[in-house]
Order: sequence, then C-alpha cells, then structure tokens
Amino acid sequence: MNRFRHPALGLLAAATLVSAAQAASPGNDPAALAKIRDAALQSDYAWERTADMTDLIGPRLSGSKGAAAAVTQVAEAMRKLGAKVTLQPVKVPHWVRGQETGELVEYRGRPDGISQRVVLTALGGSGATPAAGLTAPVVVVSSFDELKARGAEVKGKIVLFDVPFDQFMADRGLAGPAYGQGSNYRTNGPRMAAELGAVAALVRSVGGANYRLPHTGATNLQDGARIPAAAVTVEDAMLMGRLAKRGPLTMRLVLTPQILPDADSYNVIADLPGSDKPDEVVIVSGHLDSWDLATGAHDDAAGVASAMAVFETLKKLDYRPRRTIRLIAWMNEENGTRGARTYLEANTANAATHIGAIESDNGAGRPFGLRASVPAGSSRLFAPLQAALQPIGAGVFQRQDALSTGDLSGLERAGVPSFAPLIDTSSYFDYHHTAADTLDKLDPDNLRRHVALMATTAWFLANVEEPIGRAVVPAK
Ligand SMILES: [Zn+2]
Repeated sequence: MNRFRHPALGLLAAATLVSAAQAASPGNDPAALAKIRDAALQSDYAWERTADMTDLIGPRLSGSKGAAAAVTQVAEAMRKLGAKVTLQPVKVPHWVRGQETGELVEYRGRPDGISQRVVLTALGGSGATPAAGLTAPVVVVSSFDELKARGAEVKGKIVLFDVPFDQFMADRGLAGPAYGQGSNYRTNGPRMAAELGAVAALVRSVGGANYRLPHTGATNLQDGARIPAAAVTVEDAMLMGRLAKRGPLTMRLVLTPQILPDADSYNVIADLPGSDKPDEVVIVSGHLDSWDLATGAHDDAAGVASAMAVFETLKKLDYRPRRTIRLIAWMNEENGTRGARTYLEANTANAATHIGAIESDNGAGRPFGLRASVPAGSSRLFAPLQAALQPIGAGVFQRQDALSTGDLSGLERAGVPSFAPLIDTSSYFDYHHTAADTLDKLDPDNLRRHVALMATTAWFLANVEEPIGRAVVPAK
C-alpha cells in the first residue's frame, strides 16, 4: 500500500491524491531505492514486452516492416503507461538479404562429382555476386599482417579471415574484449581485402557455441568497392583452412543482397516528466532494430523492454522523479547508428541538460552491476545505489573513461556520462547475430534483475542533488 493513499477517502479525491503522492515522492533515500528494486523484481512487464516484440513481430532490421511495427508497438505501450511519446524521424539504410550459398568446388584430393557445401550468411552492407554466383580461388589468412604479407596473391581471389573467437576469455568475464578483437576482422577485413583487389571476402563467425551457425553483423565496405562479404560458420572456416593446406582451394559463392533507397523510420522517445527539474534528462534506452536472421531477443528486445519497464516500475509505485526520465528506443544501432546520430544532432546544444544516459545492449544475462563513464574520483558518489543493488548481486561499479557503446558514444563525447549494465555475457556471443537469438534463450529472472538495475540507476540519477560530473572522454 502506498503510504500517501488513504483507503477511507473516496474516488473523487483519488486524482488529487496521486499528484500529491508524486509531489511527495522520496528522493534517493535507501528505502525508496529498495522499493524500486523490489517492485522490479516482482514484475514480468519486461518479459511480456520482450515476448511481444520477438514473438509478434520477429526480426527488425532497419527499413523492414518489422522495424516499423516495433516503432508502433513500443510507442503504444509507452502511451499506455502515461508517458509523453514523440517519434523522431530518422532516415535509415535499407539493406536486404538475398540468396546466400557457398560451395567448395575444387581442392586437392576431391573425388569426382564431389563438392562441399559451406554454411554462410551475408554481412550487412555486403555487395552482391552476379545472380549465378562467382567462382574464384580462396586465400585463407589468420591476421591482418598475413593479409598484408600475402597482398600480391589476393587480386581476383576470395579472402577468408580465419580468426577464432576467444571463448576462453568470454568464459572468464571478458566476452566484450573477445568480441571486439574478433569483430575487428568482420568490420574491417572485407574492406581491406577489397582494397587489395579481392573479389569477395569471408570471415570466420565471431562467437562461441559452434553449432555450425553463421553470425552476421555489419561490415564497413565503401561504395565503389562493395564486394560480396559473408560470415562462414566456425566449422566451415576450419574445413576451408584444412583444405587450403592440402593445396589450391576454389569456391563458388552466391550472395544477392540489395541496397534499397534509404527508408523513413523513427526513434521512439517517451518522457516521464520531472517534478522540479523537467528540463534535465536521464535517458534509459535500448535499440529497436535487430539483425534479420532471428527475432533479436537478446539483441536488443530485452534492452528496450527493460528500459520500458523502468516506467512501469515507477508508475506502480506512484514515484515521480525530480528530473525527466526519457526512454529512447533507438533505431538503426546495428547497421548505421543513424538514430543515435539524429538524436545527437538535435540535442548537441543541450547536451549539458542530459545528466546521464543508460543503454542496455549486451544481452539479458545476469547483471552484476554497472559500467559508467564518470570522472575519476566520483565512483564513491554511487555508494547508495550500490548498497541498494548489492542484495541482488548487482552492486559492482566499474568506472571507465569511455564506454564507447553503439548508441551512446556521441552523447558521451559531448560529455554526458554513459551507463551500461555490467552483465554476464559468457554465453551472449553464442546467440548474438545468429538465427538462434530467440526468446527461449532469455531467463525471466535475469530480466527482472535487469529492470531492477536500470530502474534504480535511472531513479538515482534523476534525483541526485547535484549532477555527477561530466564524463571525461578523449576526443575521437
Ligand atoms: Zn545490440
């Protein structure tokens, strides 16, 4: 029972009482933070919204019908929670997958009539082969240095970057760095191969759980040198490596993706106005778009739904923050970050009124605490928040100069402290950007913990007496 409501008073008085309760919302006292945490732990709102987005809509790549449906779905849900909803127009790239097949057609020791199928998937931004495919010799390299050393061999060939994902690191809490060093090849390898005259580029999938699933993702090809580019499964990369050691290896590759004209889309922005500093803003966010191979449950329906659930938690408690809490469901994180750029352009002048920005975009594993780009020495100011989160094992506070996440990095460079849940990502890259990123991979209990972390953090930042220092971020 809310202590501000009196059961003996009639319905007529209820509306006045709600606003009286909101005006009297507690600030950052430990009991309020604990109440927010516990209310989040008792709600399946985030799970239900994740299920709506993944089961009812499915894949949500920028420009697709699924992405448009997600905009509508989230906006409607936020209106239902009483938030003030704005759709911010964003022009997004519109890349669509086509056919994708690979076949090893020549190699030493190949019996007559035999060829080997390769399981692969186009990378976002990949160019296309002719409709009938292309056939070319394969050069397998294990590093950028090897690519450079063998640069003269590359012209007219298909380059495969065979670089393993370091699951050992991932298992021990370093999935982020493991992904970073692997995805560097996916992001930059095809462009470098194109510059050396390669006719196509392949990368070994960046992720764990080797069940012959290819992991897609964006690649940084330039117009004019947009060669076909795909990720092959770990098993197929290893096979190709072994066959290339036996002798010359030739592959037939069919990739027919298309780049359509930029499409109209939106960031969904929803405000819970602050009671006494409505012009100061704390962002809670996730990204609406997903890759097209699956329903983007971990990446990032769970993040959007957790941010939405911050509003539901506070509404249930009749708590109104001093500053505005703003949900942003970003569009186009995966292949362009146009949503984040659009928001930044519109808000550069008032970056200083953005007190902090939280984005959940590392899957829905169990949260251990927060990563934060706040100035050195300011970590101790978060002690009350840590104390509220410690009972659920989420009291860790990791300060970094910059988080450099997809959607928040621009705001961060503009001085806005960024926050991200610090979560168990040891199995995240088993599913990330694959056909297996579906609702069944999520744990409802972890999702509730996620909301508890996001809601207490948003509340804490929205009510803190003085904004906690601007982030110290080296210029890019
Ligand atoms: Zn993501």
